[in-house]
Amino acid sequence: MANHCDGNSNLTGSSLKIPAIKFTKLFINGEFVDSVSGKTFDTFDPRTGEVIAKVSLGDAEDVDLAVKAARHAFDYGPWPRMSGSERGMIMMKFADLIQENSEEIAALDAVNGGKLFIMCKVIDIGTASRTLRYYAGAADKIHGTVLKLSKGFQGYTLKEPIGVVGSIIPWNFPTAMFFMKTGPALTAGCTIILKPAEQTPLSALYYAHLAKLAGVPDGVLNVVNGYGCTTGAAISSHMDIDKVTFTGSTEVGRKIMMAAATSNLKPVSLELGGKSPLLIFDDADVDQAADIAFRGMFFNKGEICVASSRVFVQEGIYEKLKKKLIEKAKATVVGDPFDPKVHQGPQTDKKQFEKILSYIEKGKTEGATLLVGGNRVGQKGYYIEPTIFVDVKDDMTIAKEEIFGPVMCLMKFKTMEEGIKRANSTTYGLAAGIITKNLNVANTVSRSIRAGVIWINCYTVFDMDCPYGGYKMSGFGRDFGLEALDQYLQIKSVVTPVLNSPWY
Ligand code: NAD
Repeated sequence: MANHCDGNSNLTGSSLKIPAIKFTKLFINGEFVDSVSGKTFDTFDPRTGEVIAKVSLGDAEDVDLAVKAARHAFDYGPWPRMSGSERGMIMMKFADLIQENSEEIAALDAVNGGKLFIMCKVIDIGTASRTLRYYAGAADKIHGTVLKLSKGFQGYTLKEPIGVVGSIIPWNFPTAMFFMKTGPALTAGCTIILKPAEQTPLSALYYAHLAKLAGVPDGVLNVVNGYGCTTGAAISSHMDIDKVTFTGSTEVGRKIMMAAATSNLKPVSLELGGKSPLLIFDDADVDQAADIAFRGMFFNKGEICVASSRVFVQEGIYEKLKKKLIEKAKATVVGDPFDPKVHQGPQTDKKQFEKILSYIEKGKTEGATLLVGGNRVGQKGYYIEPTIFVDVKDDMTIAKEEIFGPVMCLMKFKTMEEGIKRANSTTYGLAAGIITKNLNVANTVSRSIRAGVIWINCYTVFDMDCPYGGYKMSGFGRDFGLEALDQYLQIKSVVTPVLNSPWY
């Protein structure tokens, strides 16, 4: 395994980039403010485990202040009342500012989340600005329909913003998640309280600053950092928040739904975990299949909810594919995410790092064979080798539970029917992949797998116009696409009599 952090000797000097951290307070009603309690929490650099900043720690009282600001901005402010095209122009400006500051923001996500700097700059920030522009373009195209009702009446529907939205997001894509949630909500004319994950609080504050510069009015976009069980819980149970949108674990999704049900019955949308299957058929091009499978699993160090963590290979090409995957794992350079030669940075935090290593141990003790990887890299920071297990049974823990790290289960199957059955034998249903040249197989499998996204001869291809979300315990509701916009709108029907119509 190539690595750039043996003893972490390279994690010093010029490669240890800590960008200027300008924003660490809460952002409420258009201002950066200390938390009511005055408390802060530490945020870390996963390359070293060291503290890089102290961030204001929000709590229920701060959430309440943010909700008051958002409620006022919604009930009396200009944002929901201006024309869609005016909102769209401000969002376009916001997108331009993100691009202009892409180096600085990418460095924040890289140093805070262990993500590759170049990936943050090109993929995450590119996704952020494209998402804003996509929804900005939709802002002046929100309209209802005219209804011809029974004799003597006419009606029409209005699509109105749902109100004050609470957004709770995870740490693996702090930038993309921020805009998946705020893009459609802003377009709809909603106001927002967003809670970033406690592991990655920094880039969201930068975005709040840029939103203000772009002309988003005060109170429309508020960022309250803090822990899930306090700040997050205060959002999901708040009586004056009209909707909660959440991305994170299935376990927390359940808590959020319960809090919404026992407070003001606010609607929720949940994007949750996954244990996604990738089925590779005998007719696949082995090199291409190995590329797709490897990237599908190890992209963003396996910290991606759609990771192809269960790779099923038809027996005819299993051995060849296995060899290719070993080569790829061995060629992977693990190290400082700012180094352009590095493919895989550190896991996001100590808890995640320890959880992944304990799953690797569990895989070994339950009888799976470690094909490659399985070890920590270096003595400092949270680096783990790309890891592949074989001889994995469907009922083993590593095949059932979401590891959310660089650990692949490589399995063999005989027939399409067997592949479909095993792919579906999971409580999750977020994504799946199929690699084959046979159109009939691709069609049958894509319709048979119960998952919200199916990739055929590709994987992890996201587009703003393609709705994205889960089946089964991977949640409900969709991010991206115009379907996401609908989640921030509600429909009002207006009915009126029509007197003396020449048509009735
Ligand atoms: P998590 O569920 O622990 O935390 C996600 C967010 O929820 C954080 O902001 C956290 O502070 C908050 N939170 C925690 N407890 C809460 C509570 N009781 N009430 C309200 N908020 C609370 O998940 P994580 O460890 O940050 O992220 C990993 C998980 O997220 C994985 O399961 C992964 O699959 C999932 N995920 C899903 C998607 C998707 O699009 N489906 C995307 C990324 C991550």
